[in-house]
Amino acid sequence: MSLLEVNNLKTYFYTLRGVVRAVDGISFHIDEGMAFGLAGESGCGKSTTALSIMGLIKDPGKIVDGEIVFEGEDLLKKTKEELNQIRWKKISMIFQGAMNAFNPVHRVGDQIVEAILYHENISREEAWEKAEKLLEMVGIDPSRAKNYPHEFSGGMKQRAMIAMALSCNPKLVIADEPTTALDVIVQKQVLDLMKELQKKLKLSIMLISHDLSVIAQMCDSVAIMYAGKIVEYADAISLFKEPQHPYSKGLINSFPNILNPGKKPESIPGQPPSLINPPPGCRFHPRCPFATDKCREVEPHLVNIGNKHFVACHLIGG
Ligand code: SF4
Repeated sequence: MSLLEVNNLKTYFYTLRGVVRAVDGISFHIDEGMAFGLAGESGCGKSTTALSIMGLIKDPGKIVDGEIVFEGEDLLKKTKEELNQIRWKKISMIFQGAMNAFNPVHRVGDQIVEAILYHENISREEAWEKAEKLLEMVGIDPSRAKNYPHEFSGGMKQRAMIAMALSCNPKLVIADEPTTALDVIVQKQVLDLMKELQKKLKLSIMLISHDLSVIAQMCDSVAIMYAGKIVEYADAISLFKEPQHPYSKGLINSFPNILNPGKKPESIPGQPPSLINPPPGCRFHPRCPFATDKCREVEPHLVNIGNKHFVACHLIGG
């Protein structure tokens, strides 16, 4: 049994302009101790997927269908109180831009302590001790717990955020673009730290990023999302070595390739579609150089092309 199984998840936003189908029937799973990557351009539904799992979709958003099964139980059937017991304690999240989320007027240690005290029935002294240990675990001198956020560098703030996410010993950490605001050297240090902690604590990680190099470094399996749907899903090695879907290929080609440094990155022409009125058939067809009449009319579904490598494209496996 997987730690997390997302089945046919649909999360829509009911706006005055129409229904935004931000996540439109996606399925994936994360096994214990494994890292899963969700990749795609901005606005494809990655963050909405994460917020759906955390039970943090707010009006006018609504999960309209599907299951989010964690440790064998569907989170969508839980009450608010039951979800509060799972959130942070079993599933925690590092939000996009989280390193700027520390309150500037409180010491970093106090902010981690508050997160611990909210979920654990221990004294403030014990929580402070735990906060110091957590900071030490992410490579920060525990005495820095008394510092204010402005006394931390960007990389230290991100490490402290990771410490905060680990404060209640979760089984799954969802990290939404955890390194986007960092320079490449600090980015590598933070990713190495996450990888090390994943092994040490036997954590499962769901990593969300538009940057495929980040996903390639960290993840065991990967799903590529486009316009609210998963278009390719496989283990990371197969997907990066032999991407099949034209969108996955375009996305991979749009980043520098260290194995082929002479090759210039090429952007995918066009823009992702509106999710209020997405194109019929394959949603990628207006940008796809291989589109046929069938692509414009019939929606392709994920097909297993072998070794649990799934692709949704009429040209492949059909
Ligand atoms: Fe391109 Fe057609 Fe495949 Fe869509 S189904 S990715 S339009 S070839």
